[in-house]
Amino acid sequence: MSLDVIGLGPGDAALRTPEAEAALAAATDILGYGPYVARVPPRPGQRRHATDNRQELERARHALELAAEGARVAVVSSGDAGVFAMASAVFEALEAGPEAWRALEIRVLPGISAMFAAAARLGAPLGHDFCAISLSDNLKPWALVERRLRLAAEAGFVLALYNPISRARPWQLGRAFALLAETLPGTTPLAFATAISRPEERIEIRALAEADPALADMRTLVLVGSAATRLIPRPGGRPWLYAPRSVPA
Ligand code: SAH
Repeated sequence: MSLDVIGLGPGDAALRTPEAEAALAAATDILGYGPYVARVPPRPGQRRHATDNRQELERARHALELAAEGARVAVVSSGDAGVFAMASAVFEALEAGPEAWRALEIRVLPGISAMFAAAARLGAPLGHDFCAISLSDNLKPWALVERRLRLAAEAGFVLALYNPISRARPWQLGRAFALLAETLPGTTPLAFATAISRPEERIEIRALAEADPALADMRTLVLVGSAATRLIPRPGGRPWLYAPRSVPA
């Protein structure tokens, strides 16, 4: 019958949209990576299909099949479902799948992406031009990640780095810092924003020259400032980090 692709936000249920809540409540079937499905309060009669993180395309196909059979399906992602998440997998499966799937009622419901939740905690670091790059080389070659990092730093973008590190990808973040240091001054501010809006939330700010990959884990969004990024010291606390509204000529 229908398929909603839903962004659950960064963690705290207060950062989930009322639209997403309503769609979750109406769903007959919830599909997603286990820890995300676990964030949805169980409802009687609702079927839950929690799967492994690497089965995105398979999960997307399963969701479309269920919808075609008449279910009211919700596919959940953390943050926004369109940012390095399930919405793309659903459309990939749709494009490659049976013609009949195209008549399904599909909605993508936005959520608060990690970069927005992290930026809000820090001040206003994304107030000017920025870009988002996933450091994961599971779905693209590492050479492309390096090229994008280099060019984005050269162009003066603030960088929101998703998927900075994992057990299977231990060296990429250190390599990214070394590469960025070839273009950016060592004083460029970086923020390590971990598990934002969850009980384990932690934020560390460092200069690029002192940035340590060990400050990041799988739940960390690394934000790399630009030459325009400003720090406002605060007594006894973390400084505010912000991008002024205008960049000098
Ligand atoms: N769709 C998600 C991103 C999925 S990729 C979104 O829009 O936020 C997974 C990566 O997102 C993690 O490796 C981490 O870099 C980031 N992330 C997800 N939740 C986070 C949180 N609560 N705090 C900080 N970073 C988070």
